[in-house]
Amino acid sequence: MLEHDTIAPHGGTLVDLLATEAEAVSLASEARHYPKVQVGERELSDLEMLTVGALSPLTGFQGEKDYRSILETMHLTSGLPWSIPVTLSIDEQGMKGVGRADAVALVAREDADPLAFLRLHEVFRRDRETEARAVFGTEDLEHPGVKALHDAGDWCLAGEVRALHLPEHDTFQGYRMTPRETRDAFRERGWKRVVGFQTRNPVHRAHEYIQKCALEIVDGLLLHPLVGATKEDDVPAEVRMRCYEILFQNYYPKDRAMMSVFPAAMRYAGPKEAIWHAICRKNYGCTHFIVGRDHAGVGTYYGTYEAQKVFESFEADELGITPLFFEHSFYCLTCEGMASPKTCPHDDQVRVILSGTKVREMLRKGDKPPPEFSRPEVAEILIEAMRA
Ligand SMILES: [Zn+2]
Repeated sequence: MLEHDTIAPHGGTLVDLLATEAEAVSLASEARHYPKVQVGERELSDLEMLTVGALSPLTGFQGEKDYRSILETMHLTSGLPWSIPVTLSIDEQGMKGVGRADAVALVAREDADPLAFLRLHEVFRRDRETEARAVFGTEDLEHPGVKALHDAGDWCLAGEVRALHLPEHDTFQGYRMTPRETRDAFRERGWKRVVGFQTRNPVHRAHEYIQKCALEIVDGLLLHPLVGATKEDDVPAEVRMRCYEILFQNYYPKDRAMMSVFPAAMRYAGPKEAIWHAICRKNYGCTHFIVGRDHAGVGTYYGTYEAQKVFESFEADELGITPLFFEHSFYCLTCEGMASPKTCPHDDQVRVILSGTKVREMLRKGDKPPPEFSRPEVAEILIEAMRA
């Protein structure tokens, strides 16, 4: 860790798996002699996260010992906290293609050039039931994370990754910062304490309030929207980005807030994902991380405060990054300001609270929610997106 960095990466060293140009050339020619394995959308996100060090200290897809250790203890075999295994699935058919090879070339599409080279240490069989219960707390196939796990191959390929290049993206150019780049940006701005905010939803007044409450006690805010795969009924990332951009333009201080995208796919693993999200943001250089009610939740699978309570499973210095817990917030007509049940003594009649279902219904009809709930600029973008 450089002494002027905000916080040390998880495990102490920021991993960088991207080959130098010369190395990439020789790896590409070596890769031609090895079987190709096509990587799905979710695992492609993990590959990118591994490559840039967002998953430090991991240097590849995990083997069975770490896999078991994570599911049973929320720690790696090395003793470091880790809450969700990072694995590379392959089905029976794919296994036949790999045969006895000691390395494989990872490709995004059948006909594409290799993205990365994986030196195979191990192939193991996934324990789907144990993994579903440990990560998602359920084996219910209605749960989007359990469903994705169910659809994944029976086997996992484990080993060190060497990336030839980063996956190509035609979206969010200028916002795709690696952990090294966000760390550099924090240093340039002189931020020592930085709070990270994970989101897969449009930012309404409640989220803006929480972010700004947190910003009051630190130097800078990293708005870090997840742009990997989400479930189909979530608002698409490009629509959300337009909402964030207009909010940033109009309501956020340029020298105290920045935005960058988080390439991860959503797991909907609630408490386990809250820990995982916090560890990733620590790698991006955040010293603090906002955890709301039902963080990374879906349906009614997790208790309201489960994603906050899970942080108590770790010793204070084990995670390094400091979680900041927030309640749902709202505009209160009597307080005449944003508040939460922690700060407002009034009852629901004077609190501007709308359910997600109600908000979607209003937007679909072309009605703007009250300005105390959503900034009008944000509502306009969402209404337009619903009409398209
Ligand atoms: Zn009040």
